[in-house]
Amino acid sequence: MSEIIPPGSTIGIFGSGQLGRMFAMAARRLGYRLHVFSPDRDSPAGQLSDHEIVADYHDLDAVRRLAGDVDVMTYEFENIPVNTIRTAMELKPVRPGIDALSTAQNRVREKSFMQDNGFPVTPFHPVKSLDDLKEGIRILGLPAVLKTASWGYDGKGQLKIESADDLPAAWNRMDGSESILESWVTFERELSVVAARCLHGDFTSFGVIENHHVNHILDVSLAPAEVSPQVRVRADEITRGIFEKLGVVGTMAVEYFLTDDGDLIVNEIAPRPHNSGHLTMGGCETDQFEQQLRAVCGLPLGSVRYHRSVAMTNLLGDLWKHGKPDWATAAAIPGVSLHLYGKAQPRAGRKMGHLTALADTLQEAEELALYARETLTPGKKKPT
Ligand code: AMP
Repeated sequence: MSEIIPPGSTIGIFGSGQLGRMFAMAARRLGYRLHVFSPDRDSPAGQLSDHEIVADYHDLDAVRRLAGDVDVMTYEFENIPVNTIRTAMELKPVRPGIDALSTAQNRVREKSFMQDNGFPVTPFHPVKSLDDLKEGIRILGLPAVLKTASWGYDGKGQLKIESADDLPAAWNRMDGSESILESWVTFERELSVVAARCLHGDFTSFGVIENHHVNHILDVSLAPAEVSPQVRVRADEITRGIFEKLGVVGTMAVEYFLTDDGDLIVNEIAPRPHNSGHLTMGGCETDQFEQQLRAVCGLPLGSVRYHRSVAMTNLLGDLWKHGKPDWATAAAIPGVSLHLYGKAQPRAGRKMGHLTALADTLQEAEELALYARETLTPGKKKPT
């Protein structure tokens, strides 16, 4: 039997946010049909699907119905219960599989996986009690950061610890959840590598992307990042090693800290397309969502060549604070592309869209992206 799932086939996706939406766009462009599974109605991905299954992720009958109706499945966020994916896999393939998903779902598992396989990782200590926390601080020293082991993203559920006096209060804040203590890393920059691997093991990487966060949420990404050849080669080598160890088929991101000494430390993995990889849409010959689609459907991976330097800025709900953003002005800027996710409620910190800017240099691309975002702010005097 051919392993290729050809255009015209139906793909199921667990999760219905913006990542699913942009995956749906790639799938539509290549002539696939799409069924979206999530608890939400009229979701960003559901709006572009042939069929929206509104059900709890634990509703295994609904999961079996989805699996029965599609040819292959994928997921767009890492908190889908492993048992849901296992149930779906009894009927049809789900890519990437369970190993990457369950590793990414728990920071203790994730960091232990890195350590056990020789990938560079922040020193850490698992914490299930105040005594564990005290022991962790004794071993790792201060400052350190305490994070919930599961369900943390965009800095949620994490706390920097500066003094031993803070320990009881810090442990209280975790509310008894399994946690992880990590050494505080003083980094020069935060980087990510988004890459894809297909069924037969071919691997393509979008290379190193530089990321800037504000309030723990990604604000700006730049690519191809200006890093030394050593860092570039090492980042691809580690990323590829992680893909191979986890048997990933699909797009995945590895987030890194680059230390002052030029060392790379893995912070975390995201076994799906990644916010920092949005700049590949328009920035590269094939984007991260089409790579995901190609890998999941057994097609060859596409070329990841960058057209020019590219910058991406997120558009958060905060932009709506003083009224509707001025779309027309930003849309008129050459080299700038707007991407909006079809979300009705612009809450503070909520990712509503992003924009990308292409230019000849990274600095020009960043300036153009920031300028374009500035022009969106309603009522603000337009920058010149
Ligand atoms: P995370 O949820 O683990 O991706 O963390 C969110 C952000 O917190 C990261 O992008 C870093 O800016 C910061 N951070 C997380 N872990 C550490 C650490 N061990 N040392 C320093 N900064 C960290």
